[in-house]
Amino acid sequence: MKGASNQFLVDSEAKAFDLFHRETINYNISKYDFSVSQGLSRFFNLENSKKRAFTHKWKAIENLDRYLLEFEQNFNRKGGKVIWANNDKEAREEILQIVRKHGIKTAVKSKSMATEEIELNDFLKENDVDCYETDLGEYIVQLLGQKPYHIVTPAMHLRKEEIAALFHEKFGTPIDSSPEQITQKARELLREKYLSADLGITGANFLIADTGSIAITENEGNGRLSMTFPKVHIALVGIEKVLPNLADLDLFWPLLATHGTGQNLTVYNSLISGPKSSAETDGPEHMYVILLDNGRTELLGKKELRQGLYCIRCGACLNACPVYKNIGGHTYNTTYSGPIGSVISPHLKGMEEFKHLSYASSLCGNCSTVCPVKIDLHKMLLINRRDSVKGGLSPWMEKTGWNFWKMGMIHQKLLDKIPFEWKRFFLKVFFQKSWGKKRNLPPIAPISFHELWLEKNPIPKD
Ligand code: SF4
Repeated sequence: MKGASNQFLVDSEAKAFDLFHRETINYNISKYDFSVSQGLSRFFNLENSKKRAFTHKWKAIENLDRYLLEFEQNFNRKGGKVIWANNDKEAREEILQIVRKHGIKTAVKSKSMATEEIELNDFLKENDVDCYETDLGEYIVQLLGQKPYHIVTPAMHLRKEEIAALFHEKFGTPIDSSPEQITQKARELLREKYLSADLGITGANFLIADTGSIAITENEGNGRLSMTFPKVHIALVGIEKVLPNLADLDLFWPLLATHGTGQNLTVYNSLISGPKSSAETDGPEHMYVILLDNGRTELLGKKELRQGLYCIRCGACLNACPVYKNIGGHTYNTTYSGPIGSVISPHLKGMEEFKHLSYASSLCGNCSTVCPVKIDLHKMLLINRRDSVKGGLSPWMEKTGWNFWKMGMIHQKLLDKIPFEWKRFFLKVFFQKSWGKKRNLPPIAPISFHELWLEKNPIPKD
């Protein structure tokens, strides 16, 4: 669909020339870079850890059917219920059934990209359930009516002064509130919601097959509170999050923490294996894990692209990407932005509508270099491009341009007969839009290389 790619071009241009945005992002990413470089230096052998992580994920994804069933069996054994959802619609319907069954009116939600993927907040609102984001960054973007800007730091595009002004407007806090004062206010507002909510919604960073547990990593403790007080807990989790063994966390927790924020380990790491038992005082009475496919098996079915499922959502490739830093997260208009978003979105949401994201890359390879699970991201962007061309999805203009180019390359003499002014004209007509209005196309030399060569090396006459 042309609409999405045209909108992407318009929004990219607007953001790329928004100096305020650029300064904010560069500042926030420079702080991230500093912390991450310190965090990574604490690895005894980082490269080896990354290779091991790749191998572990390879094993998990190649045996996904087996590990998911193992997870289900172990989780159900402890009183939980696993539900399988083929797509976003099915996941929403399953959640609605749970909501109706337990008479739920209020929900608290911790940060989860899977819930963004199925647009759960809007759906719950339509069905008369008040749902409150409890992660501070998510809460801020919810107050603004925006989508998360980044998969790890949803409010990365905002300065502290902007957030202070938002809290001043909404809650009457001082206009010059410090981050600590803002956090304190959010805490006051949200504490009461945890206590009154009927439902806690979370995602999960990992599904552990051999223990039937979900592993949740967070820095604010809001995820833990969302799972503790409400009588019902739903975890919506992508099927690719599975790890075979509990011991795998020994590798993945530090890798995720350092690449996500530069910490040795994230502050709160919870392992939940079902609803509260009769011997426990805290925790939900009912717990559901919804395993979400939503296009993931489409990726699984493509051998060259399967690596896209290894992602542990650390966000490192976004922060390393020169395109992301200039156009920002909202421009992608997808749940997952940056390089990993460009790789997987065409498969999760449709190649025709989202193929343009695979072209939004300089192919510098920085994303692949920083990835803790060694996903060959920039190669996969090329595979997406190839597949979209093979699938006949290139625009007419581009196809025609390349056909002319091919003809010219095959019939060199014919090409030399065309005056260079004409060649410049054709280049402008066919390529200026994709080259960018603000960039000059390379000039065509008055004399072609072929002619120049013949001039300097004339073919001897017998
Ligand atoms: S692709 Fe790699 S770097 Fe990017 S978010 Fe996923 S794990 Fe992190």
